[in-house]
Amino acid sequence: MVAAMNSLFLFRGPLTIRALAFVKASNSIPIRSLPLFHRPPFSFRRTMSSTGATNDEETSARVAAADADTGGPTIYDKIIAKEIPSTIVYEDDKVLAFRDINPQAPVHVLVIPKSRDGLTQLGKAEKRHGEILGELLYAAKIVAEKEGIVDGFRVVINSGPTACQSVYHLHLHVLGGRQMAWPPG
Ligand code: 5GP
Repeated sequence: MVAAMNSLFLFRGPLTIRALAFVKASNSIPIRSLPLFHRPPFSFRRTMSSTGATNDEETSARVAAADADTGGPTIYDKIIAKEIPSTIVYEDDKVLAFRDINPQAPVHVLVIPKSRDGLTQLGKAEKRHGEILGELLYAAKIVAEKEGIVDGFRVVINSGPTACQSVYHLHLHVLGGRQMAWPPG
């Protein structure tokens, strides 16, 4: 298990290409706690009105993320509760894996713990989380097998504002189906 945790810390590098998609904000989730893609058009207009879109998006993501780790509910709670639809790739009693709404590769699946239990981000992991972290990493391998990419795939965890994390419920990105570049952005 310690080996699994050590492996997790080896993964690095944020996803840098971020598109904005609009999903109607839930009444139960304050707009400030929503990731950028879930904010209403005002944020979109503000972001797109300035120059240097990629830098602005990353800056906006950092600003949004800086006050996002409130421990409050995230969009993933609704996905787990099946209150909003998702395409589930794998599920067991502890883990849910579903397709990313904004895929960055032909295969882009998110693997999350069903119970967040304080894991808003990997940077908040404690020793007691070792078991679920191992489960998540193993689930990523199961997803890769199911998706036919087990011969070559990437697992990414964005942790915190500097890595442009936008949803504060720990998640692994499982990416594949194309040649990956290195270093990541
Ligand atoms: P992060 O930036 O926090 O590492 O990744 C969050 C991911 O969640 C993004 O890749 C984003 O596309 C994905 N995402 C955000 N909202 C939803 C949603 O409602 N459904 C799905 N399937 N993915 C989402």
